[in-house]
Amino acid sequence: MMHRIQCKCGALQGHIQGTGTCSRVACYCADCRAFTKFLGCSDDVLDAQGGSEIVQLAQPRVVFSQGKEHLAAVRLSEKGLLRWYADCCKTPIGNTLANPKVSFIGLIRSFLDHSMIEKDFGRSIAVVNVDSAIGDSKPVQKGLFGVILRFIWIVLPMRISGQYRSSQLFNKSGDPVVSPRVLTAEERKALNAEI
Ligand SMILES: [Zn+2]
Ligand SMILES: [Zn+2]
Repeated sequence: MMHRIQCKCGALQGHIQGTGTCSRVACYCADCRAFTKFLGCSDDVLDAQGGSEIVQLAQPRVVFSQGKEHLAAVRLSEKGLLRWYADCCKTPIGNTLANPKVSFIGLIRSFLDHSMIEKDFGRSIAVVNVDSAIGDSKPVQKGLFGVILRFIWIVLPMRISGQYRSSQLFNKSGDPVVSPRVLTAEERKALNAEI
């Protein structure tokens, strides 16, 4: 597979290589929404009920070929996920854990090739964290158990084989390649209030 990935302005580019387990997920949690608020791209990224579409796969499959200097990351709290984005045009890239040995990434639709998502990652979309969706009639949760199972099938082989070490998001000593900005509780709260 050679799924093209790029930020909105095109400065940061690359592709997703190889094959392997993946999950398409629509996440309605407030943190995913706050991340788009932080970048000022909620209208572009979120669906009508405030959901983000995400493709989870193994981190080493993500290859940046150009513009890696535009990589940036933010954490919504001290222990929050690393939320990666392209700082050239504030395009959300995806979410990872801070622990490089759990080598998945949840790539956000904005960084993917829209016309190829279905072909490359399948038709089925799990729907999660529906309680925090916007509006009175919430989407129906589905597919969470499958997402959890596939998550294990994504990270376990990377861990056992040691392939997690080839992720371009972490350096040899296991630190993120850019040091993430950590939002203060006030900054995080302000993003909530905007919704
Ligand atoms: Zn850009
Ligand atoms: Zn979420």
